[in-house]
Amino acid sequence: MAQPPFTMGRLDCAPAVNSAMIAPQRLMALHRQHATALWVTLTAAALLFAFEPASTWWFPSCPLRGLTGWLCPLCGSLRAIHAIVHGSPLLAFWLNPLTTVGIAAALFACVYDAAHPSHTTRLIDRGFALCFSARGLVLAALFGVMRNASFDWLAGLH
Ligand SMILES: [Zn+2]
Repeated sequence: MAQPPFTMGRLDCAPAVNSAMIAPQRLMALHRQHATALWVTLTAAALLFAFEPASTWWFPSCPLRGLTGWLCPLCGSLRAIHAIVHGSPLLAFWLNPLTTVGIAAALFACVYDAAHPSHTTRLIDRGFALCFSARGLVLAALFGVMRNASFDWLAGLH
């Protein structure tokens, strides 16, 4: 005996919704997220272009550096971004290599994703997933340890 349409357990009265109807809504939400991220990024870039973080009082300072004198993995990031938006990538790298490489990788991922829109997994999403994973945190912690380590003990090897 054939079952009548729309009798699928608890969804007896639910209207039929196919994926073609959902996809535009998800696409709109994705575009809204990207638009928000773009506005936040452009606003931050404009502020960091207009103001020097090292001499502007309202830019946040690092609490770890203030308390201990140690550099955290993000110390120098605002000054590095200021240098990038002023066209000085080498100075930015000197101020914070992790932030500078991260920004370069994010820009590359955005360009790559724009050039390959048919790929199901976007490079920028994979990059963000790495940043907020255990591996990403370990890499950042190692970078933090390395930038605070004193390599004076290597002088005896030369
Ligand atoms: Zn810091």
